[in-house]
Amino acid sequence: MAIEQPDMTLKAIGFVKNQVAQPVQGGWEEVISEIVIDRRLTDALDGLEEFSHIVVLFWMHKTSGEPTLKVHPRGKIEFPLVGLFATRSPRRPNPVGETTVRLLERRGNILKVRGLDAINGTPVIDIKPYIPRRHSVAGARVPPWVTKSGGISQRLEDIYRRLMDGYGPQHWWPAESPFEVMVGAVLTQSAAWSNVEKAIAGLKGAGALSPEALRRLPLAELARLIRPCGYYNAKAVKLKSLARWLGEFCGDDLNRLSAHDTDTLRRELLSIHGVGEETADSILLYAVGKPVFVIDAYTRRIISRLGLAPQDTSYAACQALFRDNLPVDSGLFNEYHALLVSLAKDVCRPRPLCPKCCLADKCPSRIVK
Ligand code: SF4
Repeated sequence: MAIEQPDMTLKAIGFVKNQVAQPVQGGWEEVISEIVIDRRLTDALDGLEEFSHIVVLFWMHKTSGEPTLKVHPRGKIEFPLVGLFATRSPRRPNPVGETTVRLLERRGNILKVRGLDAINGTPVIDIKPYIPRRHSVAGARVPPWVTKSGGISQRLEDIYRRLMDGYGPQHWWPAESPFEVMVGAVLTQSAAWSNVEKAIAGLKGAGALSPEALRRLPLAELARLIRPCGYYNAKAVKLKSLARWLGEFCGDDLNRLSAHDTDTLRRELLSIHGVGEETADSILLYAVGKPVFVIDAYTRRIISRLGLAPQDTSYAACQALFRDNLPVDSGLFNEYHALLVSLAKDVCRPRPLCPKCCLADKCPSRIVK
């Protein structure tokens, strides 16, 4: 028997303001948003700033397609088909999203939050304080798929375990300071690391391994010092740009970089002459400690040989493979990337030494002699 339900009218109390234009899968942990509440409701926010976390209810207005009654959680077919209401799928009869976020600041009618998985312009329909006693239930039961990672996650975790067993912790990046990491990330472009080390030693010997010293150094002299790493004229210009940016963006205080959210900082880094995605992400991960996965030629070679992604997969898609299937953790991403580099240099070379590889029994590309 169908039950007639009354129609209801909801009115937004505000909207989300951030840099995310389209819905994306995962990666929301570091997104900073402002929730702009209707000015007439400003007084209703009084006291909310006392809470570290709030619960935001919002209307996922860009969700498209008819909801289906049964879905695979997180869209992963390896998970069982379950009822829509047993999941957090956005495609539901009433596309209401609900997320607990960190409240960073309240300014009048504006709430600045971290971790809200809603795109720019999303209507907000309610705000509640997060109260641990009420929202966190000790001993709550959940089905196995909630805590189980999908097939790709398991493969990535298995690969990591084997690499760690085989090579041990890598303690990357090999540098004495975050600024040295930044310089190394630029110098290593199209260069062997042994030559980068010589160039960095040259800079250290000349007392030029600081943003200010690099700015003061004549361009020709800088190029001479970094000559061992190749493309030294072009790289000298890039280092000058990096040093100039550091002065302007954070007054040469690298500790201030981590206060910016990852997306903002990444955009800033990419605006510097000579800083591409791989260099920017190396700086974010190894110099600033942000949880981003670095994709380089070694990583691409290995994941394509392992059948995880075709060789021509875009940088962003390669990055999403790790980000969406592993815990978003800078320590894990640091070790994982460093271990992949070790594997690529040791055995997964252009001409692979598969019989010596710790991943051989799971690799569809292994060459058996
Ligand atoms: S088995 Fe061979 S191709 Fe596969 S990852 Fe190992 S070295 Fe590379």
